[in-house]
Amino acid sequence: MNMKNGGKKRRRLVIHLILLFSLCHVLAGCGRKQDGFSTGDGSTPPVEKRQMIAMDTFMQLQIYGENAKTAADAATQEIARLEALFSAQDGEVARLNEAHGGTVSEDTAALLQKAVQLYEETDGAFDITIYPVVKAWGFIDKEYRVPKIETILQLLEAVDASAIGFDAQTGRVELPERAELDFGGIAKGYTSDRLIEVLKENKITSAMLNLGGNVALLGGKPDGSEFKIAIAHPEEQEKYLGIVSVKDTSVITSGGYERFFERDGEIYHHIIDPATGYPARQGLASVTIVCADGARADGLSTALFVMGKEKAVSFWREHRTEFDCVLYTAEGGLFVTGGLKDCFSSAYEFQVIE
Ligand code: ADP
Ligand code: MG
Repeated sequence: MNMKNGGKKRRRLVIHLILLFSLCHVLAGCGRKQDGFSTGDGSTPPVEKRQMIAMDTFMQLQIYGENAKTAADAATQEIARLEALFSAQDGEVARLNEAHGGTVSEDTAALLQKAVQLYEETDGAFDITIYPVVKAWGFIDKEYRVPKIETILQLLEAVDASAIGFDAQTGRVELPERAELDFGGIAKGYTSDRLIEVLKENKITSAMLNLGGNVALLGGKPDGSEFKIAIAHPEEQEKYLGIVSVKDTSVITSGGYERFFERDGEIYHHIIDPATGYPARQGLASVTIVCADGARADGLSTALFVMGKEKAVSFWREHRTEFDCVLYTAEGGLFVTGGLKDCFSSAYEFQVIE
């Protein structure tokens, strides 16, 4: 049965993320002593590690420094606070959807503004009003199903982020009838940005946060070198597309392999093309965005996946100073954009896009 299948995949996802994280850790941990990194002068900064399930995903925090414990407590509280806002099932967003409007918190307002900006920039590839369609496919209640085409077409009529009314002064949001918001494609990136701020307020200068495969880095490793982040291989669980060596940035991946179900031999995944209402099938198997702005990285990973390689590349060319990306096609082609040329390594052949 498909639900069972979905459950199995989800377990696989969690295991996969644990593996990914351990690999990051192992690779990031060169020269590591016990649980921390060597700082070069022989001392080892304390490390605080936390794991939790939040925002429907598996999260791991790895925070270095004298104040790591206090900082980790503050970060954990921040995750809970933001989850209570952004959840479309029982958070502030859920209440907004139900009432078709309302005055929202500062964070939800900031997230909404970022999401609408991404909608405009990506020509609608990223659209937070996709929620009714995502629900119809069963990605929310995990009762996976292929909706009737008539249902999809009807639901698509209310998918249009440009119709959201928002007053930045008052935080007042108005939703058109039948429109509902879903921040699933951007909330984790925004959350990681907030967590980095919380860590900075707690005097932390080195941390690696993994929010369900969305990685955010504060500084470099305690010894000053780059963190090494592995990018999951969509088809081969034990393998990696490559490693990016970076500091002070976010590395966020979207792929059709993350959440999906199978029906009559067809795979249906959770990234929906707002133009069709069906899972996006534009030839990409995974998109990784490297960008200092985590919310933007998260939204763009979803958007570029929807666009497909050609559009994604031209989008990058117009925004090349803002982010870089790794694209992996369904045919097995691996591409990285110019800015990653010197910080990407892979066991596979890859092409650098300029
Ligand atoms: P993940 O949450 O697995 O890391 P993404 O960041 O790509 O993956 O977000 C996918 C989620 O975003 C979906 O589960 C759904 O809630 C939402 N979503 C799906 N399609 C779109 C879209 N075209 N635009 C905005 N959000 C989307
Ligand atoms: Mg995303």
